[in-house]
Amino acid sequence: MFDPLSSRHALERLDVEAELWTALERDELIVYYQPILDLRTERIVGFEALARWQHPGRGLVLPVDFIALAEESDLIIALGRTVLEKACRQAQAWRKHWPDENLVMSVNLSPRQFADPELATGIAEVLRLTGLEPCALELEITESSAMDRSEVSLGILQQLRALGVRIVLDDFGTGYSSLAYLRHLPLDTIKIDRSFVTDLDVQDPNVGIVRAVVSLAHGLGVSVVAEGIETEEQARRLRELGCDMGQGYTWAHPADAIRTGKFVAERLAARKQLAAPDAATPAPRRATRAPARSATRGPARSMRASRTGAPG
Ligand code: C2E
Ligand code: MG
Ligand code: MG
Repeated sequence: MFDPLSSRHALERLDVEAELWTALERDELIVYYQPILDLRTERIVGFEALARWQHPGRGLVLPVDFIALAEESDLIIALGRTVLEKACRQAQAWRKHWPDENLVMSVNLSPRQFADPELATGIAEVLRLTGLEPCALELEITESSAMDRSEVSLGILQQLRALGVRIVLDDFGTGYSSLAYLRHLPLDTIKIDRSFVTDLDVQDPNVGIVRAVVSLAHGLGVSVVAEGIETEEQARRLRELGCDMGQGYTWAHPADAIRTGKFVAERLAARKQLAAPDAATPAPRRATRAPARSATRGPARSMRASRTGAPG
């Protein structure tokens, strides 16, 4: 039966889809970056690349308004390729600029990209094009991508691992992971979903959940990132619970490459000043929490080093 409402929605969807294809051609698809920090040392260890649509009329459009739609067609493949290429190029530039930092770039993969038979070939091509070392790239997949078609998924993950890239299980706790299956996945990192981080600074059952996830992850030999950390208290709790890394507004909102680069430069400069024995002026407040280089060795740091394939 003809439903004018759903037909209008369908037309609107087609409009946005067509607009998105044009956006890709016009290079309106940009990448924002959010720093990921080692929770113990508060050193920046990498970034998550997050897509944004710089719309000529509507301004900056967030992924919630276009990723799901792109995911309905091959648009997501083209969009994913654009984000991957930009993020890898940026990561390579930052790694060259700060060679001692071993910065890693995390890129989100949608379920449809994950099911694309050309995925590994495309990633290998982007790594070659941008010159980024495979160990400096992490791919974030969700539980549902990894769990659907489990045999096939396992094969794809092994192909990606063979390239030398690292695998992150994103939004952990929001899907239906089978522990038996999780054990077989070639993972490097688990990201605890923001919903478990939000109430950590009050009396909350999330404390137990986070503790269990950290213990599970470490038992599997993988590191843990908490996302959506908005307060210092949450960061402190997570550190106490043994969580290795974190990202969130308490340090930095996602921002374009220029602002993110400035943020990194400022933190590194502040750390250097703190480390210098005759530092004339006190370092900015945020930097006082970032210890000197010599203090960065320990379990969390060595775990990160093992993630990046770099010496600890
Ligand atoms: P995600 O991969 O779980 O990314 C984390 C989201 O949490 C980002 O939202 C980030 O801006 C937000 N976030 C970070 N710190 C905080 C915080 O302290 N508080 C709060 N409230 N939020 C925080 P964003 O950028 O809107 O992206 C949303 C989702 O869209 C992502 O979730 C990811 O699933 C998807 N996405 C973004 N970029 C891409 C992409 O290039 N490809 C694909 N396939 N998906 C993408
Ligand atoms: Mg993510
Ligand atoms: Mg996430």
